Amino acid sequence: MLIGITGTPGTGKTSVTAQLEKKPGYQIIHLNELIKDEKLYSEVDTERDCVVADMDLVEQRVMEKVNRSSPVTILDSHLSHHIADIVIVLRTSPDKLRERLQKRNYSENKVQENLEAEALDVILFESVGWCDKVFEIDTTNQTIEETITDVEEILDALLKDRDEQVTAKYKPGSVDWSEEFFA
Ligand code: ADP
Ligand code: MN
Repeated sequence: MLIGITGTPGTGKTSVTAQLEKKPGYQIIHLNELIKDEKLYSEVDTERDCVVADMDLVEQRVMEKVNRSSPVTILDSHLSHHIADIVIVLRTSPDKLRERLQKRNYSENKVQENLEAEALDVILFESVGWCDKVFEIDTTNQTIEETITDVEEILDALLKDRDEQVTAKYKPGSVDWSEEFFA
């Protein structure tokens, strides 16, 4: 099963998947690393300090890398919902996200751009538009371990074909940062 863990930068995708990587049964593909290592981009956006990934190439490389003997392959990236049909969207309130992004060497513009994307549910909307199954986890007041427990609950249900039992708990659209952010 191929599943994406997506969300605005700083919501914890890499922290969560790095822990899952230590457990048996999970293949993790850190897409952003793959894109950089194999130069799977078509453009370097110097103004916004990022690369524009060639998503056709990325998808092709992912399919080649998927280990069919692993029950679950997880794509770690804010781009994973472009590739996987099943995704988990990690959410974090903009106030908390600001603290995390300011610790990175992001410009103030880049921090602000990401906070707005989170406040406007950009990745959630894209995921709902493009993917078959979308689960949302609000990580704002959770530890990384608690988020991992949630992710594993979703994966377990999907593997048992009982994901309808967790759809209500992880229903997309449950978070709304607009009052906090735009007030
Ligand atoms: P992403 O891959 O989504 O950009 P990262 O996992 O790289 O996110 O970054 C999240 C940052 O926030 C890490 O530095 C992590 O240590 C920190 N952090 C603090 N608390 C949490 C939490 N509860 N869940 C996830 N990350 C957290
Ligand atoms: Mn990451």
